[in-house]
Amino acid sequence: MRNRVVVLGAGLAGLSAADLLCGRGMSVVVLEKEPRPGGLAATHSENGFLFDYGPHRFHTENDAVLSQVEGLLGGDLLTLTRCSRIRLLDRYFHYPLALGDVLASMPPCRGVQMMAGFMLEKARGLLKPREQRSFEGWVLSRFGKPLYDLYFAPYNRKLWGLESSELSADWASQRITVPSLAGLVRETFSPSGKVRSLAGRFRYPVGGIGRISEALASGVGNAGGVILLDTAPEAVVRRGDAWEVRAGGSEIPADWIVNTIPLGDLAGLLGSALPESAHRAASSLRFRSLVFLAVLLKGDTGAQDHWIYTSEDRYAFNRLSISRNFDPGMPRQIVFEFSCDRGDRVWNASKDELMDNAVRGAEHLSLFSPDDVVDGVIVRREHAYPIYKLGYRAEAGAVLDSLKSLGGIVSCGRQGLFRYNNMDHSMEMGRCAALEVLGEGSVEERFHWGEGVWADG
Ligand SMILES: Cc1cc2nc3c(=O)[nH]c(=O)nc-3n(C[C@H](O)[C@H](O)[C@H](O)COP(=O)(O)OP(=O)(O)OC[C@H]3O[C@@H](n4cnc5c(N)ncnc54)[C@H](O)[C@@H]3O)c2cc1C
Repeated sequence: MRNRVVVLGAGLAGLSAADLLCGRGMSVVVLEKEPRPGGLAATHSENGFLFDYGPHRFHTENDAVLSQVEGLLGGDLLTLTRCSRIRLLDRYFHYPLALGDVLASMPPCRGVQMMAGFMLEKARGLLKPREQRSFEGWVLSRFGKPLYDLYFAPYNRKLWGLESSELSADWASQRITVPSLAGLVRETFSPSGKVRSLAGRFRYPVGGIGRISEALASGVGNAGGVILLDTAPEAVVRRGDAWEVRAGGSEIPADWIVNTIPLGDLAGLLGSALPESAHRAASSLRFRSLVFLAVLLKGDTGAQDHWIYTSEDRYAFNRLSISRNFDPGMPRQIVFEFSCDRGDRVWNASKDELMDNAVRGAEHLSLFSPDDVVDGVIVRREHAYPIYKLGYRAEAGAVLDSLKSLGGIVSCGRQGLFRYNNMDHSMEMGRCAALEVLGEGSVEERFHWGEGVWADG
């Protein structure tokens, strides 16, 4: 009986796979390089700090995933109404954008310029339609140049470290809440014709988003699964028609590997089992990293927001979130997100350098002053955002096709499919991967890597 499974990574995808497999009597070992489970959806606890890696709101259209999370957390699941804003031109705009608010808050000359730019773009499109492959072409043709220059281009440059012309339009279509300026007008005057819904209400566990993965992890343990933390696999080697995973001095036999770690890491572990072309494709799949700075305060900020976007260059961080607005029992913290590439200046910056910028920014936003600060802590996460550069689909597809041809490996999750997705998607992917192992379906049927999903962060 082929019942031995090694799961690589104990984020929501890996834990969900392990949970289902253990429930079906399979023998499961999960290998996780970090000291805690949960991956990007963990809650960090250190010296009185307790914070998520950026704002995490749980919402799903999948009833099975919802009832699973409700079952895991019982009454400890809060229901909240999203409150978030964008800071631009020294004023606040609601997020997602609403036309009435934009026109009321925007300096009048800017508002006129924006509408004129949009009309001009429409006229231009009649003569020579813009290409739609890049983020730049997608946004320009839907919003016009003034709004592109004011918001989209600087925000993307900061978030991705790339020009919008280098990014695939996939990211825009997954992430922009309103499909065009015309859509914004339509939503304003005919709310029933909403073009896209950005769930206004969401769920949040008391004590932090990491409670979901902690509950999943203890379920796996109770069902006989083994989760080895602080354990990074060193190699994955073929043994007849099975696999052997080397980690921490042990050799763990596996009939199946469920992979949820970055495709580049998995390719490294497989070595010569994969062709050179797959290695080349895997190494071109890059991730944007994040440094999180949590600042503990003496008092509350007074702001109601769950999070605030800060696209302008005066702030080195691209977003901040306020933990107590998710759960009033959380410490008085603000979490600042700094986008970067591993090894660059921001990645290597000291806590004091980041703190200096964050505190100046927060003062400018009238959130708090230097005297309010008790302490700060930083955490770095290398694989935060899969970068959807032009051509990324072909590269990801090449790696996934090569993995498939090896047999006995199912790859899923944000890292394992190179997919900018939400928590509930990762949970569902993990379950699909488990069903694939059991011969009852496939990840690809439900989540073809080339198709976009709507995603938060
Ligand atoms: C800033 C931010 C905000 C977000 N906000 C939201 C939100 O509001 N709502 C929402 O639904 N989603 C949100 N998300 C997305 C959500 O966090 C992810 O989609 C989800 O947690 C991914 O789960 P995963 O298991 O697929 O991947 P991961 O969480 O990345 O798990 C992969 C695991 O593999 C481990 N690993 C990596 N390499 C190795 C290795 N070599 N060996 C062993 N282990 C390894 C990692 O440590 C990690 O535990 C947000 C993400 C970010 C970055």
